[in-house]
Parts: sequence; C-alpha cells; structure tokens
Amino acid sequence: MAASTNIFSEKETNNWFKACLALNCTKEGLTNFIETELQRVLAAVGGSCGNCSIENLMSCPTPGLCNSKAKKKCMFHKAKVFQQCKICDQVKQKIISFHRFYKPSWRNTKAERWATEPWEIGKCYLPPGGYKGVSVVQESDLNGILSLMLNCTHFETCLSASLTPKPPDPQCPLEKVRQIGRDVRHTADCKVNDADLQYYFQTLATLLADPKCLVHDPLAITARTKLSQLQNDRLSLFELGELLKDASQTLKQAKAAGEHFSKVAEITLQEALQSIEASLQAGKQQIEAVISDSKKQLDIHTQDSVRKISEETRVGIERIQQVEINQAIDDYGRDVDGGANPCGIDCP
Ligand SMILES: [Zn+2]
Ligand SMILES: [Zn+2]
Repeated sequence: MAASTNIFSEKETNNWFKACLALNCTKEGLTNFIETELQRVLAAVGGSCGNCSIENLMSCPTPGLCNSKAKKKCMFHKAKVFQQCKICDQVKQKIISFHRFYKPSWRNTKAERWATEPWEIGKCYLPPGGYKGVSVVQESDLNGILSLMLNCTHFETCLSASLTPKPPDPQCPLEKVRQIGRDVRHTADCKVNDADLQYYFQTLATLLADPKCLVHDPLAITARTKLSQLQNDRLSLFELGELLKDASQTLKQAKAAGEHFSKVAEITLQEALQSIEASLQAGKQQIEAVISDSKKQLDIHTQDSVRKISEETRVGIERIQQVEINQAIDDYGRDVDGGANPCGIDCP
C-alpha cells in the first residue's frame, strides 16, 4: 500500500520534508559504492603496523591539530606521545597525498585500524569534527560521505560526470549536491518550492546514475527507484517510516558534528516522525484486530467441530451399546428357547 507523503497541510513544508528524505535515500544509495572504493584506497595507501594510535603518529605540536604552548600540557597528546614508526608514517604520507587540500581530519580516525578497516582511512577525508564515533559508513550522514568523495582524489577515478568540473568549483555536480544538503538543513522556515524540489530530485538522481560505476551499483539503483517513488508519492508507509528514522539520525549526527541545524527543521521532522509512527501503529492495530478476529472464528469452528465429534462419538457408542444389548437379548432368547427343548430334537 502506497502512503501519502503529504503529512503537513502546507505544500511547501511537505516539499521540504520530501527533500530531507531524498537526501537520506541518496546516502543509502552511495554506501556500497563507498565501501568498495575505500577497499581500493586502503590497498593504495598500504598497511599500517596496527599498533600506533593517531596520537603516536603526530608530532607535537602539529599546526591545526594541537598546540602545546610553553607551559600548558597538550590536550591531544595527553595520554599518548609521538613516536617514530616508519611503516605508519608511510601510510600517513599517502593519506595526505590523496587529500585534495592535503589536510586530512586526523581527529576523526583510529590509526590502529588503518590496516583492517577502510572506513577509518575514509574518515580522514570527512569534516574535521564529529565523526570519531562513527564506526561504519552506514552511520555517516550524506554530508560526511560527500566530503569524502570531494576530498579524496581517488574518487576522480570512479566518478566521471559528478566530479567535472573539479571541486571546489561550485559548478561541480557533487558540490551542488552538498549545497542542497546545506540549504535543507539550514532552512529558516522548512519550506521548499516545487521548482527547487524538482531540481533536488533531478540532481540527486543524476549523481546516483554517474556512468562510471554508480549506474550499475545495486544500492544506487534501489535508491533511484525509491527517489522516484518518493517524488510521486508511491512509497509504502513502512519504507517512509524507515527513511524518516534515518532522517532523524542525520539530525543527531549533524548536531554531534557541531553543525547548525535549524530548530524549526528539528521540530518539523519530529512532527513527521510522530505522524508516521501513529499511522504505522494504526495499521498494526488493524492487522492485529484482523488476526484476533480470524483466531476467534477459528476457535469457534474448532469448538464446534469438537462438539460435533463428541456428539457423533457419543451417538456411535450408544449405537454400539444398543447393538450389544440387542445381541444379548437375542442370545438370552435363544438360551431360553433351548432350555425348553434340551434335546434339541423336534419332539412330536
Ligand atoms: Zn606504526
Ligand atoms: Zn600535541
């Protein structure tokens, strides 16, 4: 059953709501592609030793990361100090060389996991704060994933149309998607007009159909279908609920990253979530009522059948008993007749 996305009475608020869901849908569509490509990035930067933490790999002070002023103790190097490691330093230099602006976000990453978890390398290309606890790509928001694709130059080999012209050119299609995300998150009134919404859908669908790899990626294909269903109000209530939960997650993520997320946007998303949960609950209650009713009907039938069977059994037993009684009477009758004529020969 398709659900209406028209939760709010104002059309432009509904449009904004759809834009939020479309952004999350796009993020889901990119996760498989990101995981695959980060495996390649890991192979290109090489394996680390697995013991060094990011604090061990950064000298103190490192501009932009930590400032150990003459008498104050460095907060970044509070627990662990810098130590030389040739293997990890090579990996670190490679990570820097893959960064478009040579400025990896070291605070996000756990260097101990560089050799085994490609996502920990990916996190060096995310915005500088708020992603340390994000341990898998699926937990990231679209903004994080877009930063990765924009900042890590490996993606120039697997995205063709989306990175031409190259960032930070505002005409770069990926930069345009990032701008859509900003506009939706930073909204002052939670309103999007029809023309803008159409542009959003078109831009997001174009990214998910990038001809180099994404056009054949299974999750990107699913996301394109969902986008089209969302645009045409043909998503199921369940799918809508799932997307919305994800949108709420994004909101928390944005807050954790210290990003400004408009208050009115937060309230509007909460309202939508409550409304959809209420619809899902009503649907669930309806299904439960139908099941309970069917069960009752079944019980009545069962009881009826048991009653019928018992009744028939009783009648059957009575019949058998009756036959036995008749038989006994007959036998008795024969015995009596036999007693009157013991010789068994007809007497004249
Ligand atoms: Zn090391
Ligand atoms: Zn330091």
